[in-house]
Amino acid sequence: MKKKEVNSSRMPVYRDAGFELYDAGITAGAFKKETEHEREPDNYIYSRYRNPTVVAAEEEIMKLEKCNWALLTQSGMSAIDTALSVFQRGDKTRPWLFFTEIYGGTISFIESVLKKRRGLDIHHFMPENGTYNLTEFEKILLNLKPEIVYIESISNPMVMVADVSEITKLARKHNVKVIIDNTFATPWLYKPLDDGADIVIHSATKYFSGHGNLTAGVLCGNDQQIMKDAIEYRKFVGHMLSPDDAYRLHTQIQTFELRFSRQCSNAASLAEFLNSNKAIGKVWYPGLKNHATFKTAEKLFGGKGYGAMITFDLAGKDGIEKRSKRDKFIALVSEKIKLIPTLGDPHTILMPVESVWGAKYPEPGMIRLSVGFEEYTELEEVIKKALGSL
Ligand code: PLP
Repeated sequence: MKKKEVNSSRMPVYRDAGFELYDAGITAGAFKKETEHEREPDNYIYSRYRNPTVVAAEEEIMKLEKCNWALLTQSGMSAIDTALSVFQRGDKTRPWLFFTEIYGGTISFIESVLKKRRGLDIHHFMPENGTYNLTEFEKILLNLKPEIVYIESISNPMVMVADVSEITKLARKHNVKVIIDNTFATPWLYKPLDDGADIVIHSATKYFSGHGNLTAGVLCGNDQQIMKDAIEYRKFVGHMLSPDDAYRLHTQIQTFELRFSRQCSNAASLAEFLNSNKAIGKVWYPGLKNHATFKTAEKLFGGKGYGAMITFDLAGKDGIEKRSKRDKFIALVSEKIKLIPTLGDPHTILMPVESVWGAKYPEPGMIRLSVGFEEYTELEEVIKKALGSL
């Protein structure tokens, strides 16, 4: 087949597993160059190492996070694994410190992989009354001397905003690396790398993709050595994103800011509405003044928005009543608001917190809402009607 250039303005999907290298000399040069882990090689070799469609999608994320490197992986979890594994050095690995308010899947990964299988020295830092006490945090840094700290800028599912700028300042003072999961905040609200974080990760399955039709993850950073180590890890473990998913991500990310800004404004309106409705027990949303981290959210996000995730429960005298109302609410809204265990989709979707992560959260019967970018009044109408029928 003769190769043909066409007048397409789109990034092609390069589905090559291996790329043509023509002769032994070019092959030797390409493999030698590969050990330098350049972001974009002259000669591609093999799609598990690097793929041009993936690189094109990475460049879109580099523009959003304003960073020098973005590495795409098959899922948010593989981005987390890559980010953390860069700091694992056999028995020379120092302790790792995890803030406790993080995604349940990450907690399971810590327990079942990092502790149980890799035997790493893992420590946890818990909030007090819904915020992290940074004086205590500094004491831990001094005593434990961890290698890394790991935090979510807005936590899943309690939407707690961590004061990442202060945490990063303290960590740097004590020579500790900082990894931030910025999935809920996105760079539209906040760019942790600007405040000195070492690695920012995202589940790109969520707002970057925005359509619930692929899973992907990304690690962003500016430190060349860290990012080259991450490229190497991704290559050997095989965490690379597929070209087809990269193509869809590359297309869908063009509308990220439009979608996410609308999702944030819908969520802000809905949180206010829920907060003033008598059928509701409590609403957790960092844009509400009664949220423990409202001031931190204002400081970090400058009033631009507060994210598009809301957690709430229904009013009830005890757990039995709250759970029964939760089930009724889910059934009443199900035509418009589906129970789908993900977030960042075009339409508002929900998830019963306890059914997924157990009864460890403050209230039984809590519901997590991922607010979509649909027309707001219709969304409020559906929820208002359901709440009125409980
Ligand atoms: N980080 C956060 C905050 C998440 O909510 C999730 C998934 O829900 C992940 C990471 C993992 O991402 P993925 O499901 O793409 O592996």
